[in-house]
Amino acid sequence: MYGYDIFHDRLMDTLIGNLRNGTNAAAYIFEGVKGLRVYESALLFAKALVCDNPKDAPCCHCPSCREAQAGTHPDILFVNRERGKASLGINPIRDMITEAMVTPFFNQHKVFIIKDGDLLTAEAQNAFLKIIEEPPEYAVFIIICPDAQTLLPTVRSRAITIPFTPVNDDIVRKYITEKYPDEPRVDFLVKYCAGIPEAADDIIDREDFEQLREDALSLVPKILSKNKIHAYTVSEYFENHAEIAAELYDMILTYLRDALVTALGSPEKIVNADTSDKIDILARTYPTGLLVCAIDEIIYSKKLLDRNVKTSATAMHAALKVVSDI
Ligand SMILES: [Zn+2]
Repeated sequence: MYGYDIFHDRLMDTLIGNLRNGTNAAAYIFEGVKGLRVYESALLFAKALVCDNPKDAPCCHCPSCREAQAGTHPDILFVNRERGKASLGINPIRDMITEAMVTPFFNQHKVFIIKDGDLLTAEAQNAFLKIIEEPPEYAVFIIICPDAQTLLPTVRSRAITIPFTPVNDDIVRKYITEKYPDEPRVDFLVKYCAGIPEAADDIIDREDFEQLREDALSLVPKILSKNKIHAYTVSEYFENHAEIAAELYDMILTYLRDALVTALGSPEKIVNADTSDKIDILARTYPTGLLVCAIDEIIYSKKLLDRNVKTSATAMHAALKVVSDI
C-alpha cells in the first residue's frame, strides 16, 4: 500500500482519508504487537504527512514522498533508545523537543516516530507531555507501543490511540503462502499465529519448534496432575529452557485452550489439530474447571516473566498454584 507492505490497509485508508481532509492530531499512539508491521504503518503515515500534495497524499511521486520512501526525508525523525540503555529515557526526548522547535525543511509537517514506546520512562513521558500540551502546529508525534496501557494516562489522554489489532486468518494465510510456498503446515500456522502474520517467521525459522511443541504437550498433564513431584519436573524443564520460557508458556496455553474447547464441544476450533487424539484425552481426563484454572495460572506466570521473576520460579508457581487452587 503506497510503497509499504502492511497488514491494516483499511485502518490506514481511514487515517490517510482524514489527513487529506485536513484532520490530523498532534500525537498518535500506534498500538500493536510485534509482527503486525505497526512500524511500517507509521512510516507510511509519516510519508503521507510530509507529501507535497496534501489532497492526494501520499502521492508517491513528489520529491517528499520519494525521500520518505528512501528513509532520507529530513522532516521524518526517529527517536530511539540510547546505546546500551534498556529504557527510552529523558535524553532522547529532550533532543526530540529541541528538534521539534525547528520548523520543517520542506513543507507543512515534521514527524517524530518514537519506537519502543513501552520502554519510555515516566520522566521521559512527563517531558513529552510538555510538548504535546502545546505542540508546534507542524509537529506530529507517533508513539509505537504494543500496549497503550503501559503509557501514562496523561499521555494517552492527549494522543489518539490507533489500535492495530490481530488481522483475520485470510491475511495470515496469504502472508505465509506467499512467503513460504513450500511450507506444509499452513493450516496449523494460520491458527497458531492467531492473527499475527509475522509470528510465522519465528516458528518457521526455529528448527527445534516441533520438538518444543512435543515437550510442551508432555508438560501439560504434569501441570494438571496436582502432584508436587511433577511440579518440580515442570520447574526444572523451564530452568533448562529459560531463554524461551515465554514461547513455552504460549505453547502450553494453546494445548490447554484446545483441551477446553474440545471439552466444551467445539473440537473443530483447536489449534493443534495434528495432536487432536492427545487433546481429546486431556479433555476427557481433566475437569473443565481445572483447565480454566491452569490457563489463568499460565497467563499469570507468563506475566511474572516480564517482571524478571526467575523462570523456574514462575513455572513452579503455575504448577503448584494449579494444585492448590483445586
Ligand atoms: Zn507525495
